[in-house]
Amino acid sequence: MTVRSPETLSLTIWGARGSIPAPGPHTLRYGGETTCLEIRAGSHVLLIDCGSGARRCGAAFAQEGIEQLDVLFTHTHMDHLCGLPFFCSAYDPRVEVSLWAGHIPPGGTLEEIVERMMSPPIFPVATSALRNTDFRAFKPRSTFTLNSGLEVSSTRLNHPGNGCGFRIDWCGSSIAIITDHEHGDAVLDDEIAEFVTGADLMIYDAMYLQDEYPRFVGWGHSTPTKALELAARSGVAMPVVFHHDPSRGDDALDTVAREIAVQHPGAMVAKEGETIHLTGGTVEVGTRRAA
Ligand SMILES: [Zn+2]
Ligand SMILES: [Zn+2]
Repeated sequence: MTVRSPETLSLTIWGARGSIPAPGPHTLRYGGETTCLEIRAGSHVLLIDCGSGARRCGAAFAQEGIEQLDVLFTHTHMDHLCGLPFFCSAYDPRVEVSLWAGHIPPGGTLEEIVERMMSPPIFPVATSALRNTDFRAFKPRSTFTLNSGLEVSSTRLNHPGNGCGFRIDWCGSSIAIITDHEHGDAVLDDEIAEFVTGADLMIYDAMYLQDEYPRFVGWGHSTPTKALELAARSGVAMPVVFHHDPSRGDDALDTVAREIAVQHPGAMVAKEGETIHLTGGTVEVGTRRAA
């Protein structure tokens, strides 16, 4: 990644799909990998979620020689976790990796959840193979400091089994991540509206279109319409709709992109392979480095 300056806050999309990877001719332009977002704040390296997109992200980190990074999980549904066993940074003893979660009820741990996934007969390699990797917990609705020294704030989301949203503020720029989340809980909606206030960029779960949503109430996801409503309410400059339904093809996402850009100039549909740089109020959208 080209970090434009030490003041630049960047977001790279390694996976924008929800539920299950969706490779194929219908997803060539927006991508089929599940959720994985890389954030750079100066020299700090941070991942949000380890969906299937984390595999290529790890390869890029290895090429670049990244030595330390923090991974924040919004929650541990499979589409956000399935890339961890294929994320090579976590196996490399030269790379210090901290895995963080804040959605797990008391008594449970992230390590235990990852162990359940990485054990026979589900997976052949045990978590003991994750070298130089540690498991950390944070409290939802708190501001905490990552191993890299970067401060991150978290909020609660409305999702089956809980979830956490994040906000990173860096040198006057800010990114909020709100996925997976279903609108409609008044208390949480108010908390989230306050949490994202004034953000330059907001990743927002818009898995369902507004006319599809009534069939999926309670499934834990939201819509592009609600993304724009929240952005307008909270003064978010760039709402970026995310966690695309696996069956939503490129042409359908083009239509969403056109519609939201008319209603809210600056609104975008998350596209795998894009990097968005924020520097002191300027926005630059480019293509990520190869991996
Ligand atoms: Zn998901
Ligand atoms: Zn989920």
